[in-house]
Amino acid sequence: MKLVVVGGVAAGASIAARTRRLDEFAEIIVLERGHHVSFANCGLPYFIGGVITDRSRLLVQTPESLREALDLDVRVGNEVVSIDRAAKTVTVRRVDDGTEYTESYDALALTPGAEAVRPPIPGIDLDGVHVLRRMGDMDQIKAQLDALLTEAASGRRGPVRAVVIGAGYIGLEMAESLRHRGAEVDVVELADQILPPIDHELSVPVESHLRSRGVAVHLETGAAALREVDGGIDVELTNHEVLRADLVILSAGVRPNTALAREAGLELGAHGGIAVDTHMRTSDPFIWAAGDAVETPSTVLPGSGLSPLAGPANREARVAAENICGRDTEYHSTQGTSIVKVFDMVAGGTGATQRQLIAAGVPHRAVHVHPSGHAGYYPGTAMMHLKVVFDPETGRVLGGQAAGFDGVDKRIDVLSVAVRNGLTVFDLEELELAYAPPFGSAKDPINMVGFVASNVVRGDLELWYAEDYPAAVEGARVIDVRTPEEFGIWHLPGAENVPLATLRSVCGDWDTSTPIRLYCAVGFRSYLAYRSLRQRGFTELKTLSGGSTTFRAWHALDEPDVPAQREPMVNYAETHSLFALAPTGVGASIDLDCTGLACPGPIMRLAETVTAANAGDEVTVHVSDPGFASDAPAWVKRSGHQLVSIEPEGPGYVAVIRKGGAGTMASARPASRGISSGTGGGIVNGPGKTSFVVFSGDMDKVLASFIIANGALAMGEEVSMFFTFWGLNALRREQPPKREKKLMDRMFGMMMPSSAQHLPLSTMNMAGMGPVMIKSVMKHHNVPSLPELIASAHTGGARLIGCTMTMDLLGIAHSDLMDGVELGGVATFLGEASESTTTLFI
Ligand code: FAD
Repeated sequence: MKLVVVGGVAAGASIAARTRRLDEFAEIIVLERGHHVSFANCGLPYFIGGVITDRSRLLVQTPESLREALDLDVRVGNEVVSIDRAAKTVTVRRVDDGTEYTESYDALALTPGAEAVRPPIPGIDLDGVHVLRRMGDMDQIKAQLDALLTEAASGRRGPVRAVVIGAGYIGLEMAESLRHRGAEVDVVELADQILPPIDHELSVPVESHLRSRGVAVHLETGAAALREVDGGIDVELTNHEVLRADLVILSAGVRPNTALAREAGLELGAHGGIAVDTHMRTSDPFIWAAGDAVETPSTVLPGSGLSPLAGPANREARVAAENICGRDTEYHSTQGTSIVKVFDMVAGGTGATQRQLIAAGVPHRAVHVHPSGHAGYYPGTAMMHLKVVFDPETGRVLGGQAAGFDGVDKRIDVLSVAVRNGLTVFDLEELELAYAPPFGSAKDPINMVGFVASNVVRGDLELWYAEDYPAAVEGARVIDVRTPEEFGIWHLPGAENVPLATLRSVCGDWDTSTPIRLYCAVGFRSYLAYRSLRQRGFTELKTLSGGSTTFRAWHALDEPDVPAQREPMVNYAETHSLFALAPTGVGASIDLDCTGLACPGPIMRLAETVTAANAGDEVTVHVSDPGFASDAPAWVKRSGHQLVSIEPEGPGYVAVIRKGGAGTMASARPASRGISSGTGGGIVNGPGKTSFVVFSGDMDKVLASFIIANGALAMGEEVSMFFTFWGLNALRREQPPKREKKLMDRMFGMMMPSSAQHLPLSTMNMAGMGPVMIKSVMKHHNVPSLPELIASAHTGGARLIGCTMTMDLLGIAHSDLMDGVELGGVATFLGEASESTTTLFI
């Protein structure tokens, strides 16, 4: 048997090698028009970037090594220019001298791969415009880059500027590599997101990471024209912006190389690839094909498609070789499993994306979870964004995507196995995956996503989605069950803050038929709230898939509040302060490790630490949650401290926060809450303190106290509230533990309102009608109820102090009061008042 293989890299070399292993006596000729066979195209960007330093390591095999090991006749620089199917011959042109010869075959294998798409725009063929497909392309790019960098290092020119056209996998690998070498990089992408193989909300954190590493990203715009100017290239975009470049990388996608097959009259598929059957046989029984040039059935979507990836190319090649050698082996489908590293982040997916399912009209549901890559308490992890799409009836997994820092690859691979084997989300619940703290969690992210999706299929959970906002919340109460601290940093417009901890105590008088849309940070607390409300008879409930994290990604609200660094970066050493305030502080330095903590953990820990510190102390906080880049400036702004610096560190950031209040130095960029005295030292005053004596037990007055208290807290002030006489009733527990009471205490107990829920109005009480009306009006206007305001003030840090003298008089025990109420007497109050800038008697 004489096999001729056209193309000698991924699929071609595999077909030849597998054929030899099955047929020792076959004559096998590999014709490759380039000058290398079996090289690692996937490694090309990393040699340019300097991560791979030995070029020869990319040459996996050479014609000589293939002859020695497998007795293959490998001819580089030999291009097949036509096929005579009737005569079973190919015409071959020697690239170096243009001479031609004919080669006969018994079996022909076509593996010509794909070619880069070159949009027909003016200037596309200029010298400095490169594609990256082959070793030669890599050598050219590297030589030009090296020369430019050498000139820049010697001061003979400014920074090297590169424009990458196309934000697919190769484009981003090139952007990272060029940046790594020290170039200024702009990425231009026609779509409204980077990374087309994953859904929008998963691409956004990667885009933020890319920007935070100093790469400028231009979305929804393409290159319109390229012009040579002053030794560089002006890249004019369709939005009329002009980017100056020293070199341009064109990575706008690939198309299958089908000229030979087409001219030979072989059938092509709907997407322009060579059509093959499950044996990888073309429409000619003596010709097989594999790799980027063919179309294969999709594992999930209807019909066939193109999938220019190395894994499918190699597996298709193996199947082709087996059939060439007379075996009956089938290639069933391609699911498009792919992955990319973008600086410290990793993203990828398998199976269908939601976008593809929508386009194909395939019914599906989606869930989002945001677990950490491994146990949060073990160093080196960060939040992962994981999405699974599945059949709403059967729960069959149709696709999955992940973006994050650690453990992303293995989650994509597990999902890939699930898609390939038709597993359901119930199977994901049951998977027993390897766990120890450095590697995962006892409930692996895959189990977690299985739990959530199974809840949806079983009807235990109804979701609403970020992409459906605002329609999804129309006519509904939007309840944010996060803490007031998180709510203060960002919340959905019109949302009510009912922290999960208080939900059960306040929902008693809610209308169970009013539609409610819940959300929290990642979907877990809102799920608990959902279950609690559902079992209390609420019928119109939905919770936001993936919480505010997915919402903010979908609506691109997470741009870090820090300018991207544009100056050249050396060897991933992200050592530049993104912005710096005063060079040194005057207080102590405190190191705070919040890595592995997901939102709101870092902000909560930071708030605790800063509260315990003295004015002027500096807290250096290490956080792996990328959302911290936007949360930290917002928190600092609200709470009156100073953000001295924030810099990328691993997956997240390291920030220095200086406690406001006294003794802090003036800065180039003053903290927005700081009030500059305008005197020599430029002292920045911290926020003040407000103390209250709440004497009244009237609902309206207590309400006013808590509204003011919450306002003061939001302004970053300390708040201290001393409850005495009738005011103390506002702090009583709804159902205190039973205890023995004296007769007088029992009588007082009966005469007094039993909790904040039952306080009367100071006027218009109308035998209890007034408070009912006021509560209804407050609800209608989305004003939090009194218990919610109390809880919010308490969680926000207000000291609630019960007057011990009153408690003695009225027979109130500590156990009758809400959790967290401190006890104190007049000295406590006077102490608080003496430190306060404002004291109110209500
Ligand atoms: P190729 O490997 O491209 O080989 C086709 C060969 O056929 C070429 O060498 C060509 O010169 C030759 N040829 C074409 N026509 C003729 C002719 N008429 N006569 C003779 N020879 C001919 N995939 C992944 O899965 N993961 C990655 O990380 C990844 N990274 C990549 C990075 C880069 C820079 C590139 C370029 C590709 C990357 N890929 C990656 C894609 C992967 O390399 C391809 O899917 C795979 O190489 C396809 O194999 P193939 O044999 O079909 O085509």
